[in-house]
Amino acid sequence: MALMEVRDLVKEFDGQTVLSNIHLDLHDGDVRVLMGASGSGKSTLLRCLNRLVEPTSGSILFRGKEVLGPSVDVRELRKQIGFVFQQFALYSHLNVLENVTLGLRKLHGMTPAEAKEKALLELSNFDMTMHQQKYPSQLSGGQKQRVAIARALAMDPAVLVLDEPTSALDPVMSRDVADLINRLHEDGITMICVTHDLHLARNIADKVMFLDQGVIRADDRIEVLSQHSDPQIQAFFQKEQV
Ligand code: ADP
Ligand code: MG
Repeated sequence: MALMEVRDLVKEFDGQTVLSNIHLDLHDGDVRVLMGASGSGKSTLLRCLNRLVEPTSGSILFRGKEVLGPSVDVRELRKQIGFVFQQFALYSHLNVLENVTLGLRKLHGMTPAEAKEKALLELSNFDMTMHQQKYPSQLSGGQKQRVAIARALAMDPAVLVLDEPTSALDPVMSRDVADLINRLHEDGITMICVTHDLHLARNIADKVMFLDQGVIRADDRIEVLSQHSDPQIQAFFQKEQV
């Protein structure tokens, strides 16, 4: 059974169609990359997956169960789908350790001691143990993103969703976070990642979905996409050579 199956997903904002008939299958261990110009609907699609955005119509199955029904436990769903955003979205009034323990206590119901143990384990995986008492304002962008990824993974989600995780970083930090995402890929973490980084996409993606104004233009292996006849997709790959 697929982990997630998206069928005929449509999203309209104020009568304007932002996503048209999106289909997406994701299996355990898959890594799917989403690409497309700014405004093509990538973030909206990701946000529909855990109902940060309510789709207009269509179906999303998570392990065979519809997640768009009124009686669905959205908190439970969000435990299963970890999110990492471009702008880190750390709580500025909480230190690193507290940022990671919060969800473990509130959503997983861990005691403070259990949450701390789990958080420290996750932070050590990302070389952030020595920064545990720092506040987000005292961290570099790359360090903030490490904490955001550690926080998401501490929840043991079934799938990690990353929305342009390297876009807000300078080239060096961007490479560092991309290497880290590559490591997650080697560890077999199931991921959906929006990125403009073709190098990262080549390393991690089983398949790349290409969105254009809310429509899937292509959904295939990157070797196939790089030979694609669609001029828009070609342009995307030509940019890489510059
Ligand atoms: P991308 O992530 O590919 O840049 P988005 O999913 O953010 O694209 O946006 C797709 C389109 O949906 C854009 O035209 C954007 O203006 C519109 N949009 C996104 N969120 C909202 C919202 N909350 N209300 C109205 N329009 C929105
Ligand atoms: Mg976006």
